[in-house]
Amino acid sequence: MAGSIWLPKEEADFYRLLLTFTGVSNPLKVIWYALQTELDRSTFKEPVWVVPSLSNSPKEYQLPEDASTCTCDGFFARHKCIHIAAAKFRSRMEFGMR
Ligand SMILES: [Zn+2]
Repeated sequence: MAGSIWLPKEEADFYRLLLTFTGVSNPLKVIWYALQTELDRSTFKEPVWVVPSLSNSPKEYQLPEDASTCTCDGFFARHKCIHIAAAKFRSRMEFGMR
């Protein structure tokens, strides 16, 4: 297809899923969040993804390792948010496909 880039199917599926989960129009925003997201293994609990928040309270969101849920208002209202997308993207950056 003219004007498109080629990706292996699983890669294309991943990015399609990622955009489905953002609810934002700018994919670069996901990358911006993902670069500041980290997996916190420091507690005795299950590891959590710590994703920044643009608001002051809370300053960050903590998501489960599978990034299946988020506590932000956007997820509550729409069942998708940029924090989930950021955690999934970061996981892909660090661990590849799993
Ligand atoms: Zn969220």
